[in-house]
Amino acid sequence: MTASRQITAIDVHAHYGDYIRADGSQLINDFCSGDAATVVSRAAEANVRLTIASPLSGLLPRGKCDAVAGNEQAAAVAAQTEGLLQWVIAHPGQPDTFRQVEQMLGQPQCVGIKIHPEEHLYSIGEEGAALFDLAARHDAIVLAHSGDPNSWPRDFVPFADRHPNVRLILAHLGNGGGAAGDAQLQVRAIQSCRHGNVFVDTSSARSILPGLMEWAVAEIGAERILFGTDTPLYSTAMQRARIDSADISLADKRLILNENAERLFRFT
Ligand SMILES: [Zn+2]
Repeated sequence: MTASRQITAIDVHAHYGDYIRADGSQLINDFCSGDAATVVSRAAEANVRLTIASPLSGLLPRGKCDAVAGNEQAAAVAAQTEGLLQWVIAHPGQPDTFRQVEQMLGQPQCVGIKIHPEEHLYSIGEEGAALFDLAARHDAIVLAHSGDPNSWPRDFVPFADRHPNVRLILAHLGNGGGAAGDAQLQVRAIQSCRHGNVFVDTSSARSILPGLMEWAVAEIGAERILFGTDTPLYSTAMQRARIDSADISLADKRLILNENAERLFRFT
């Protein structure tokens, strides 16, 4: 564990801003909120050098966010914040976000496209063609929420197969629609895709399960798994500790925490 703690990590799945869940308590909303400075300072404490984030204001409240304003703000915040990079949000219900994708993917702080069928209330089966066409035009990397009814991992596979130049990260290893859900969905989708262009991140609350990470590495290899935290919803240090203490090789930890992201995003 000590050796792995020295690996400087990249967090591919983060957010910043105010968490707003209308049916949740204010206390929980406060726990899950954090500005960009808080997010990067928690990252630094956990030896995470780069954090790729989308603004919570572009995702929440569910069905009522302003993704266009969120993208504008995130471009400015990421450009000003050392260690923070941007996922530009594409929202099929807010077509101006497609124009922002075209524009922001060329900017240094923006490294890919975030999509969220659950918070934006559409099914990936219905909107995936337009979203993946957009991504394919830019050889883009896409981070997609996955594991709930609008975003079952298998429903992304036809689009990833059709566009081998798009690299897709299915978020939330082990998420299968709730506490009793099927933990295999992301792994099985990756096994069924044709071009090796689909990955999974470790940002799920299900990372607390002993065995999940180890099983995923055995099934798909550490090369397909990227470290993500979902901070500030979850603790960056806790998510990292799960990888540091996993029963996998140090070389696999290096791939998950750092090397896969360096290769994918061409960070040096
Ligand atoms: Zn997230």
